[in-house]
Amino acid sequence: MRADNAARAEHTTLPSPPAGLAMIIQATGDATVSSRALANLISREPAFTAEMLRLANSPFYSPGKQVKTVQQATLFMGTRTIRNMALAHAVRQTTANVDTGEFDRVTFWENSLRRALACQVLAKSAGYEDPCEAMTVGLLQDIGVMLLAIAHPHQGGALQVSQTWPAAQRIEEERRLCGMTHAEIVMAEADRWGLPDTITLAIAHHHGRPPNGAERQTRRLAEIAQAADALADIVQTQAAGNTVAHARRLLDGLPSRSPLVLEDLCEQIREDMAGASMDMRIDIQRQPTLEELVSRANQSLLNVNASYEELTKQLEQLLAEKEQLTTKLRESNDELTRLATTDSMTGIANRRAYLAQATEAIDECCSGPVKRPLSVLMLDIDHFKRVNDTYGHAAGDEVIKAVAAAMCKAVRDCDGVGRLGGEEFSIVLPETPSSGARFVGERIRRTVEAMKVDCGDAGLLSVTISVGGATIDGGDVPTAEDLLKHADKALYASKESGRNKVSWYR
Ligand code: GH3
Ligand code: MG
Ligand code: MG
Repeated sequence: MRADNAARAEHTTLPSPPAGLAMIIQATGDATVSSRALANLISREPAFTAEMLRLANSPFYSPGKQVKTVQQATLFMGTRTIRNMALAHAVRQTTANVDTGEFDRVTFWENSLRRALACQVLAKSAGYEDPCEAMTVGLLQDIGVMLLAIAHPHQGGALQVSQTWPAAQRIEEERRLCGMTHAEIVMAEADRWGLPDTITLAIAHHHGRPPNGAERQTRRLAEIAQAADALADIVQTQAAGNTVAHARRLLDGLPSRSPLVLEDLCEQIREDMAGASMDMRIDIQRQPTLEELVSRANQSLLNVNASYEELTKQLEQLLAEKEQLTTKLRESNDELTRLATTDSMTGIANRRAYLAQATEAIDECCSGPVKRPLSVLMLDIDHFKRVNDTYGHAAGDEVIKAVAAAMCKAVRDCDGVGRLGGEEFSIVLPETPSSGARFVGERIRRTVEAMKVDCGDAGLLSVTISVGGATIDGGDVPTAEDLLKHADKALYASKESGRNKVSWYR
């Protein structure tokens, strides 16, 4: 994997550490280099010298007495500490002015500082022999994220967004965006930076178990780095998902002299942040407490639930509205059907609907194996033109309505009444032989004759009707149109023979 990653990293434009700092790092790993020679090398790097003296005198290293010279500092701090400081300094200097796109370096260093302090606190609690080395691992363990942003500045924004996700998702996203994870890129770059193996391996495995053959020290350092990463993640992700539970689990598994209490460790790290940020010149925001983070995370969970509830409500409302619309649509369609089939003045079937009804009735009575009789009546108001001419069209309308109502009243539910046009009506009487139909025709004729229609100003008007009928009772079955023609002939006969009469076809 190392060779593969190295090959991929060759395509990137990653910076190298400044030559002077690289020499210091190398010298710290060389037993033949005296502390005087090391101090000489350091003195040639004024920025690092200043940084080192400042740190040597900071409460962080708590020397007790003032450290004034580089040589004092090298003797007091030891070569490993100096190596770590040179490393951290080199990394920060080298990455200070490179393009990382929208990747936010200020937040990155704040997160790195938190990891550094978490490593230091854990190393002390867990009795790790070199807390300073652990701190360097913490400071550099996510440096790979910065290297990924340098190598892929156009992914800087996306990498930045992923920084607030729990580690497992973050790593997946790195692989998707950049083809490798932050641990892998550090392994690929380790030699160029002169990173000591212990530190490289701890960084490489801070998201998983170090290989079986790894030295005990490396293994412990990787475990500390992993737990520190989980502690820092609580702040970095705002206690998202199961970050708190994950951190507790790792703490439980970490060998330690005294119990590792998540709450205490978080508070310790939070308190250390302010001082350390000044020593290491890293800008930080106000550090939230664990309690604040957890309650904020719970709140956002509540908000998610609330918005689900809101969505459900909206959905229910939409469904109710849809239901209402469907009902309205059905009603509108029913109304349209009614309008298309009904005569608006009388409310009875219009010509088209009546013919359909008559056809259906003929079908039912006369085309099955058991044939039943069926009759139709044609009815026409006598001398209706005179009504219009004498009393006006409105009075004529009242008469038409009254005659229609009288017909409806005189028939059964199964009979059909229609207005064929003008003052001409028809009635279909299923299962009715001519005798019964004649009787109905006669009853209607008499009823109309006796009626006094209230026509307002025109007064009470009386009219008569002529009726013609036809019956199917065995024999050929004519169409509805033909049967109506037969009845119309009979009607004509009634008119011819003096009106106000009922006649029958043949
Ligand atoms: P007959 O006894 O031979 O049937 O004579 P009639 O006058 O009733 O016959 P005709 O067909 O000559 O006249 C029908 C009249 O009915 C003519 C028309 O103006 C009138 N009419 C048709 N539709 C309506 C309507 O909706 N309202 C009114 N008021 N009159 C109508
Ligand atoms: Mg008429
Ligand atoms: Mg007529």
